Amino acid sequence: SKTDELAELDKKHFIHPTSAPKKGAQDGPDIIFSDGQGIFANNLEGEAYIDGMSMLWNVNIGHGQKELAEAANEQMLKIAYSSAFKGFSNVPAIKLAEKLASIAPGDLNSVFYTSGGSESNDTAFKLSRFYWSLKGKHEKKKIIAMRDGYHGVTQAAQSATGIPTTHEFAGASVEGFYHATPHLTNCELGDKNDPNYEQSIRYLIEKEGADTIAAVIIEPVQGAGGVNIPPEGYLQAVRKLCDEFNILFIADEVICGFGRTGKMFGVENWEVVPDLMCIAKGITSGYSQLGGVMISDTVREAIVNYEGVMAHGFTYSGHPTACAVALKNIEIIERDGIVENAKAMEKEMQKGLAYLEEKHDIIRNSRSIGLLAAFELYNSATGEHFDPSLQAATKVVDECFNRKLILRAIGDFRVAIAPPLVINKQEINDMIHIIDESITAFKKTI
Ligand code: PLP
Repeated sequence: SKTDELAELDKKHFIHPTSAPKKGAQDGPDIIFSDGQGIFANNLEGEAYIDGMSMLWNVNIGHGQKELAEAANEQMLKIAYSSAFKGFSNVPAIKLAEKLASIAPGDLNSVFYTSGGSESNDTAFKLSRFYWSLKGKHEKKKIIAMRDGYHGVTQAAQSATGIPTTHEFAGASVEGFYHATPHLTNCELGDKNDPNYEQSIRYLIEKEGADTIAAVIIEPVQGAGGVNIPPEGYLQAVRKLCDEFNILFIADEVICGFGRTGKMFGVENWEVVPDLMCIAKGITSGYSQLGGVMISDTVREAIVNYEGVMAHGFTYSGHPTACAVALKNIEIIERDGIVENAKAMEKEMQKGLAYLEEKHDIIRNSRSIGLLAAFELYNSATGEHFDPSLQAATKVVDECFNRKLILRAIGDFRVAIAPPLVINKQEINDMIHIIDESITAFKKTI
C-alpha cells in the first residue's frame, strides 16, 4: 500500500525528532498523517484519530482551518518572505506586533520574532544578559530555571530545561543554568498554600548571589515536565522575589499562550506580569513556524537606546507569511471565542477525569486547567506508581492509539491530554470513553 511504501522511505531517510522511548529513531512511523478537520487528524487511509494532544500542544484552533491557508496564500502571492533586519520591515510583522502588544498582559508592548519556542527562550536569555550589561551589571548572567521545566532543545534552552533525561543527550548543557527544586505537582506539594515552595528559589538566589543572576524562567503551568499546575500564590511569589533581587522574570508561555489554560496567556490566571514572555506554538496554531519574545517597556527602553548593533536576529525573524498566519489565527481565536471555549470545557474535562479516577483505582492525581490536563497511573496494590519497567503510561497511550485517540506519555506513569481548544462537550466525552476502555484493556495486561 501507499502507507507501507512511504513508511519504508521514512525509515530509510527520515531521522525523527525526539523518537519515542519504546522505539529506535529508525523504526518507521506508526502513522502518516494526511489531512485533518477540527479535533481530528486522519491517516492516509482516511481513518480519523482524535488529536488529544493538539499534536505538540500547538494546534489550538484545530485542523483544517481554511482561513489560515488563505491568509498564507494571500501573503505568499504578495511577498512570501522579506528580511526584517535593520531598516527593513513588512506589513504582517508590524500589524502582528501591534496585535500582540494589545493582547499581552501589562506593559509587554514589543516583540522580538523567532521561529519557535527554543529560539524564543535563547533570545530571552540573551536579552536578559544584554539588558543587565547595558545597566553596567556585566556579572548578571546566570539563569535560574525549575526542576521539571521544559524550554526546548537549542543549547541554552536545553540547559534551562529541568528534565534530567534531556541533558543526557549529547552532553548538551552549557554553563550558567541552575535549577530550583520545588516540585510543582500539586499532589506532591501537599498543602497548596504552603509558602515554602518559594524557598528553594530564594535559596538558590542567595547561594549564587543576586548580582550574578540575570533571570528566572518559569512556565506558568509546566507542560512536558508533567502538566504541573502551580499552587496559588506561587507565580506572584516568584514575581516578588525577582523584584526583591533585581532579576528579570521570564515566563515561558510556549504551551500556555493563546488560550490553552482558559486565558489568553497562562500568567493571567495569577495576574502576574513578567518582564519577558516567550511565545510560539499556539501563536499560529501550528499552521506556520513562528515564535517571539514579548518585551516590557523597561527592557525595551534599554535596548532601543543602545547605540551599537544588537547582534541577534534570525533569517526568519518577522517572516511575513508566518506573521500573516498568526494574525489570522488570533483573529479567529477572538472572533470564535476560543479562549472562552477552553475555559468552558475545563469543567467537562474535570468531570471526565473525576469519572475516570472514580472508576479506575489505578488513576490518581488527575489535574487540569483550561484544556491542559494529565493523570497518573498507580499500582493499586502498592499505592505507589507502577514500576518504570512496566512502561505503564506508554502502554495506556498505545491502547488509546489503537482506539484512535492520540495522547502523550510523560515519563513512566503520567499521561497528558491537551486537545484543540475548539473541542466540544460530546468530543470530550468521546475522549474520556476511549481512555476508560483503554485503561480497562491495560489492566487486563498487568
Ligand atoms: N517551551 C515550552 C514550554 C515548550 O513546551 C516547548 C516545546 O514543546 C518549547 C519551549 C520549545 O519550543 P520549540 O520546540 O518550538 O523550539
